[in-house]
Amino acid sequence: MGEEIELILEKYRSAGRILAEVRAEAAGLIKEGSPLLEVAEFVESGIRDKGGEPAFPCNLSRNEEAAHATPLVEDKAVFGKGDLVKLDIGVHIDGYIGDSAVTVDLSGDHEALVKASEAALNEAIKIVRDGVSTIEIGEVIENTIREQGYKPVVNLTGHGLGRYNSHAPPSIPNVKYEHGVILRENDVIAIEPFATDGGGKVVESGNAEIFSLLKSKPVRMREAKALLDKIKTYQGLPFAKRWLPHERLDLALRALENAGIVRDYPVLREEEKGFVSQAEHTLIIKKDGCEVTTK
Ligand code: MN
Ligand code: MN
Repeated sequence: MGEEIELILEKYRSAGRILAEVRAEAAGLIKEGSPLLEVAEFVESGIRDKGGEPAFPCNLSRNEEAAHATPLVEDKAVFGKGDLVKLDIGVHIDGYIGDSAVTVDLSGDHEALVKASEAALNEAIKIVRDGVSTIEIGEVIENTIREQGYKPVVNLTGHGLGRYNSHAPPSIPNVKYEHGVILRENDVIAIEPFATDGGGKVVESGNAEIFSLLKSKPVRMREAKALLDKIKTYQGLPFAKRWLPHERLDLALRALENAGIVRDYPVLREEEKGFVSQAEHTLIIKKDGCEVTTK
């Protein structure tokens, strides 16, 4: 193994360590009546305090929401009594990303659903090694979730991680499907099973609060130009609307969207409004197994 690859893997490990610490602290703050914005800001500033950068905005998706929910500017929302919360965090060091999520069950009524996605993640991790196919991973995830009496969410997947690329190929499916990719030593991937008591599919709903840069182009509007300069500092990684300067923000952001410069990530919710649980870790593929960076 080259020295360069070891240095890169060390950055993935550092990002993962920071993530695991922040995740544990933040999960403890998710309580009935506590503001979502406070938890998200705790996560994002905690990452920076520990020497990393957020790889994407802290996701706090509740109940039938599966992903891409993050607080608005000055959001007043608080966690409710029975909320089932997916806390999904991304950390990068020099572009090398850790991505991990846990589900916090405030009612205590969803223990089995939470366990289903955790068990699927654990079973998947057991079979990951150099030469494993993403087909096998999807099959293990699907079977484990179904054995617990739930459905996997078919249109959400795990993914590869590249430098400043939080969703690199290949897709790591949560169901058995026909076309797979063989994973090799030192590939870095995120596995993220989603389980539900609903229909097993997510649909887009509501406004987006998360965006990313697609392709920079010249823009004329003064505010859009200033906004684009700010957005470029995220190096293609997703960012939250609440991270941006507020002056004429909606107008400037819409101009960048209409010009095909930024894309949005609408909240994804379960189609039948079923409850959704998620468990996610980042791992490095090894010859005879894998190394979980976000444990
Ligand atoms: Mn994630
Ligand atoms: Mn992910």
